[in-house]
Amino acid sequence: MAKCPACNHDVRTPLFLNLDAWRHLVCPHCQARLEMKPPRSIVLGPLIAPFFVFAREGRVFEIIAFVFMFVTVFLLLLESLRPKVQLRKKSLPEPSIRLNIDDPSN
Ligand SMILES: [Zn+2]
Repeated sequence: MAKCPACNHDVRTPLFLNLDAWRHLVCPHCQARLEMKPPRSIVLGPLIAPFFVFAREGRVFEIIAFVFMFVTVFLLLLESLRPKVQLRKKSLPEPSIRLNIDDPSN
């Protein structure tokens, strides 16, 4: 469950892996189009690699690198299980090609 940012009612959120359900998620109370907020812990992801470069320097750095990796993965899983929603800003994509089938000038 997440709170709709528009009307503050509870919205039943689909499982985070169900991307199709997320794409069509609409608040049942105010019809606002919603999307998943990206998890904050995702910013820690790119930091794992430099930690493992340091891990070659010694046993202590190795332990720090592993602990950091597990904490990052744990936080990501935790945030994915309790996703937050935000209002979808982008509208549905407009069709870029328009066919002039009933053009009267022909
Ligand atoms: Zn709502």
